[in-house]
Amino acid sequence: MELQMMDELYDKNVKCPVCSTDYSTKKVRTRALRLIKQDEDFLPYYQGENPIKYRVFVCPNCGYAAYEDKYNAISDQGKEEIKRKISSQWKKRSYGNVRSTDEAIETCKLALYEGQILEESRLYLGTVALNIAWLCRLKGDVDQEKRFLKIAKDFYEEGYYKEDLSNTSMDEIKLGYLIGELYRRLGDADNAVKWFNAVVTSHNSYSNPNIRKMAVEQWRLAKGE
Ligand SMILES: [Zn+2]
Repeated sequence: MELQMMDELYDKNVKCPVCSTDYSTKKVRTRALRLIKQDEDFLPYYQGENPIKYRVFVCPNCGYAAYEDKYNAISDQGKEEIKRKISSQWKKRSYGNVRSTDEAIETCKLALYEGQILEESRLYLGTVALNIAWLCRLKGDVDQEKRFLKIAKDFYEEGYYKEDLSNTSMDEIKLGYLIGELYRRLGDADNAVKWFNAVVTSHNSYSNPNIRKMAVEQWRLAKGE
């Protein structure tokens, strides 16, 4: 089991853009991924290690933490903010080994906190918060899952109205559907129905038949609730 896990993961070498420390962090080999199922809010389940545990890179020396695709895009002003607000209090520790679910949650909480300091997009912050909610679900921690589903929903909803989604992996239809599903999971069937309706009645939804179909199914489910 342990050997198999070591084979699924590999070490990625990273240079911290804030303090220039070289370190390594684990990633799941793409070819090792076998998707078993996916929840309606897109939490993927895999046969082995779940890559959602390794999305955040954390510098062991200065505490700078972010998703891989954001990691090097930090501004000079951002670097100063991280040094002042994070590094000054950082107790040196590494998240570069196999991560327990709790450790993975810690890395995401760091990324969420630092993402707010760096004034990252609502869409990004929503995605990090949703990742925390998913990890809590894998752990069976329902209270914390709900707490972070709500945080993700709030960020996504703000992003939906205020942010440009082009050049992101999200589009208006997928995001509208996801907000509806988060409302549904939070027990707010009225708002869930409202968002699913908006997806289904949008002309744009025809270009995304999968999401459209899911919105119809979840609309029925929410109606029943
Ligand atoms: Zn660093």
